[in-house]
Amino acid sequence: MCCNDDDCIRVRFAPSPTGPFHIGGARSALFNWLLARKLGGKMVLRIEDTDRDRSTPESEENIKAALKWLGMDWDEGVDVGGPYGPYRQMERLDIYKKYTDKLLAEGKAYYCYCTPEELEAEREALTAAGENPRYMGKCANLTSEQIAKYEAEGRKPSIRFRVPKDQEIVINDMVRGTVVFDSNGIGDFVIVKSDGIPTYNYAVVIDDALMHITHVVRAEEHLSNTPRQCLLYDALGFKQPKFGHISLILGPDHRKMSKRHGATSVDQYRQMGYLPAGINNFLALLGWAPVDEQELFTMEELTKAFDMDHVAKNPAVFEIKKLNWINQHYMRQLSADELFEVAKPHMIEKGYMTGEETGEKLAWLKAVVSTSKDYIAYGAEIPGVVSMYFEDEFDFEDEETKAVLAGATVPQVIACFLEELPKVEVLDAPSIKALFKSIQKITKLKGKDVFMPIRVAMTGKQHGLELAQVIPLMGVEKVCAHVKNSMAKLGVNL
Ligand code: GLU
Repeated sequence: MCCNDDDCIRVRFAPSPTGPFHIGGARSALFNWLLARKLGGKMVLRIEDTDRDRSTPESEENIKAALKWLGMDWDEGVDVGGPYGPYRQMERLDIYKKYTDKLLAEGKAYYCYCTPEELEAEREALTAAGENPRYMGKCANLTSEQIAKYEAEGRKPSIRFRVPKDQEIVINDMVRGTVVFDSNGIGDFVIVKSDGIPTYNYAVVIDDALMHITHVVRAEEHLSNTPRQCLLYDALGFKQPKFGHISLILGPDHRKMSKRHGATSVDQYRQMGYLPAGINNFLALLGWAPVDEQELFTMEELTKAFDMDHVAKNPAVFEIKKLNWINQHYMRQLSADELFEVAKPHMIEKGYMTGEETGEKLAWLKAVVSTSKDYIAYGAEIPGVVSMYFEDEFDFEDEETKAVLAGATVPQVIACFLEELPKVEVLDAPSIKALFKSIQKITKLKGKDVFMPIRVAMTGKQHGLELAQVIPLMGVEKVCAHVKNSMAKLGVNL
């Protein structure tokens, strides 16, 4: 059984399953998860599916799969159950109803018969008068005759919460400090829509209270909802949790992160071949600042180091370069087999393998992929790095690279290489190293003047893979074909 005493930390992640799982959502989940794991608390996963037009079961599945992929488990919630279920809001309508009846009976809520057109007209009039658009309470004190008239017209009422006047609402936010709101700025708001479905602000309060949530860590955009929720906690006689509103995630141009900035969903990053360890590490640093300079944290290290005191108020900037740098660190730690698994879908997509390979071919593919390890930030980059093993043609990386082959001593080096390579009996790293030594001797040139043109002619790149590793994997025939092809592009026929 879960603990209900004040020392027990209970957090929740409460996504709305209305579309792709956004990285901002993953960050909220992570902060809650870290808090729970660090403090020995419980993590609850609740699905907020009251938006009937936009919620889909696929989106819920997608969120759960992404959380699992990232390694964030939950102790209570959908699928796993728990003492305060059900954990899907649409399965809790009878619970909300009980509280709504109570609020209505106490006069803390009332039926509102205003039509969308009337509400719109009110909003427009207030806005035109330069006032904050809010509900002015037209239905707050209807007589029974008025109610009967509206009912006879067939109007379906919503239910509004009667916001108390002249109240100062003080939120001691874990991230933003003390934030004060004036209840007079909040109009009576809808808690149950005319179709009987509760609004977010209402259901969230009842759920968080009944699920004994102690800490609500969520996105900053919900800060403006929080005073409404605080009023509801008080009206329902519930104890408020601690709130922590984590800052917006901005794109590098300091505008709210959106599709314009590139991939925004966890799934897109998974499909691109990023690693859970890289994503989690990166997300943790979007808002949380470790006490020292350390930037690389495993999930275990994060669990130990994370704390809400060092979650910053200022917006977090999503720098893809940083994500790549972090992810690369974790890519380098993969074993050859693990790296191959990451590479596989990308290699298949590119047509470099079928996925059915066995024996020598499979071993060769693994060896080829493992040569890419130090040069990639994420899986989808692998085919590009190993393309020269598979393609007959390639482009030079840039003009400067191409210019390497225009050097005066290049034809001599290349001719010597083409002459000597086929003579090597056992093609392996030591024999290739020995081959380069002998080319240096024959041509009387320094190492770089030998390696660089051969590398560029073979791969189209100035940097990257060790030639002693690449040549045995590529085979004499392909190496010679690439080299001749490159020289032909420069008009040098050998
Ligand atoms: N369902 C809300 C959302 O996805 C939850 C907000 C909250 O954590 O209170 O934004």
